[in-house]
Amino acid sequence: MSILTRRRFVEIGSAAVAGITAKPIYSLGSDPEKSSPQLCPTAFSALPLGQIRPAGWLLRQLLIQAHGLSGHLDEFWASVGPESGWLGGSGESWERGPYFVDGLLPLAWQLDDEELKAKALRFVEWTLTHQAPSGMIGPASNDDWWPRIVMCKVLAQYHEATGDPRVITVLTRYFHYQLGALPERPLRDWGKFRWQDELLVVEWLYDRTGDDSLLHLARLLERQGYDWIEAFANFKHTGVTSGADVRAATARGDRSKAMETHGVNNGQALKTAAVRYRLFGDQANEHKNFNRQIATLDRCHGMPNGMFSCDEHLAGLDPTHGTELCTGVEPLESLEVALATFADASIGDRIEKIAFNALPGTFDDDMWSHQYDQQSNQILVGLNSKPWTTNGPESNLYGLEPNFGCCTANFHQGWPKFTSSLWMSSRDGGLVASLYAPCEVETAAAGQKISIRVETEYPFRQDVRIVLSPETPVRFPLRLRIPGWAHGATLRINGQQQAVDTSPMAFALIDRRWAPGDVIDLHLPMVPSVSRWFNHSLALMRGPLVFSLDPGQSWVKLRDRGLTADWQVYPLKAWNYALLVDERSAAQIEVVESQVGSKPFAANGTAVKLRLCGSRIDAWRSEDGVAAPVPNGIQSSSLPLETLDLVPYAAAKLRITAFPQLRPQTAKDSTHSTRLAPS
Ligand SMILES: [Zn+2]
Repeated sequence: MSILTRRRFVEIGSAAVAGITAKPIYSLGSDPEKSSPQLCPTAFSALPLGQIRPAGWLLRQLLIQAHGLSGHLDEFWASVGPESGWLGGSGESWERGPYFVDGLLPLAWQLDDEELKAKALRFVEWTLTHQAPSGMIGPASNDDWWPRIVMCKVLAQYHEATGDPRVITVLTRYFHYQLGALPERPLRDWGKFRWQDELLVVEWLYDRTGDDSLLHLARLLERQGYDWIEAFANFKHTGVTSGADVRAATARGDRSKAMETHGVNNGQALKTAAVRYRLFGDQANEHKNFNRQIATLDRCHGMPNGMFSCDEHLAGLDPTHGTELCTGVEPLESLEVALATFADASIGDRIEKIAFNALPGTFDDDMWSHQYDQQSNQILVGLNSKPWTTNGPESNLYGLEPNFGCCTANFHQGWPKFTSSLWMSSRDGGLVASLYAPCEVETAAAGQKISIRVETEYPFRQDVRIVLSPETPVRFPLRLRIPGWAHGATLRINGQQQAVDTSPMAFALIDRRWAPGDVIDLHLPMVPSVSRWFNHSLALMRGPLVFSLDPGQSWVKLRDRGLTADWQVYPLKAWNYALLVDERSAAQIEVVESQVGSKPFAANGTAVKLRLCGSRIDAWRSEDGVAAPVPNGIQSSSLPLETLDLVPYAAAKLRITAFPQLRPQTAKDSTHSTRLAPS
């Protein structure tokens, strides 16, 4: 293409987007009823990036992440280093650059860290300034739609944080180009199974421009993409995926089985019903579709840590199967989208269960190493053979890139996007406390600036204090999520008990005139409870925290990896206990609280423990470094009854989470069990 022709093309491209006015930034999220007459409105909208800042333990956690791999990965891991194709180099040019920035960018803005912002902006700036004349973005060495989907999510967040108008222009030109190209070069492989992530950004852009061609693109993506709704209406993958079957089908050129059972694909697919609803309407039906997806994954592959098994493919109910880290962070984002779309408080419970347990549980305390696969029952981290469907023997090491580097690039979004979803706006001009963690919010409600401070040590404690500071008194509705486990929640405003409906699994609504300094005290009673899993095993929760037995951790370095290392972890004590507890006695378990430490989820100084009794079950052994299946049914033991302290799942880098239930044996035992008498 000659320079003249090329310039003319660019001018035409610019003309095509002229007249499109971006919505002002720092609006209260999107206002779909006004700006998107052809897209259905979500119930809530996430606040723009930058309005929510972490505080308290959450700030400490994000600083740990920033001082760990997230803040330094580009300095020694070539996949996101200076030779990245997303910086114009000849290095990795596929998903790793966009993955990295998708988490690094919100982390940088939430911490207001100039150095991290500069690292993230290098990728953003290269993308914005190297758009091809056709409208294509990204490295010219490949034309895969999939990695560009991730970069589109990055650009949307960057625009929310800065208002940079180039984002609107670049995304519009790219989507116009894709609309023309997709009929000839349709979605395939990862893009075909992850189209819903792009739809999210297409809808985001339509909210800001009202450009009708985006609706055509949205429908085309939906038509070409894999039909997740139909797949879950007639779900075929109900058991452990056979690695041999996957490999054989892939060798024949049939990737469908590998893609349909892929854990990360299934995690990203949890936003399908939400983005479809905006396009086609019928909220009740799409909410039902979402619920069916979650319930099906729980029924066939559910784990006590809030996740589903996938190592790398859907892996059934045995808690020794693994869950990939990418599948920890991708469902979090999907669920955050679904929570905003459907205003379903139970989705908030699931987000917290994953974010407070599975997410921190798969990193070392300093976030300098992570696993590829974590296990709910994980008695050894090493090189033994594993029960995985298709992953390699190194998958549960804590390290730089155990098994494969996707998680190394992708994990960064977990905590920052959780932080971005703590508060939302509602369509009636109000605000929503959607998830709980300490934070500070600078936003607007009913046309007024307002500051909010959330003071809490939730999920380790039961109380949340919210201090509201509007510039002048202003009336707006405020919704507070009441978790499903919080029976008897109470709510005080300025010390006065409120007659507000605080039923579990709903949003308590307070519509009143708020004055500067108003204080809300929300008490969410956290009572230990039992849930049942594989082979009738039991798992314990208190509030959003899952509890595990930690058999001690001996960390042995396997090898150095640049600024970090790969680690094996060996147990120091026995792990094969049955617990003397059941559904009726769980509420009486002794709860031991201590100070929330500088590393909130570290094993050293856990903020809360559950103290109860159990006995070893001699017959429950390990098989080549993996716990044998939990013995089925109530177990007898002739070994002494011991007092056990269970710690938060994330603190126990080795752990038993799904336990057999113990039958009381002797008169001596029954003394121990007066407090905890099972049925
Ligand atoms: Zn991964």
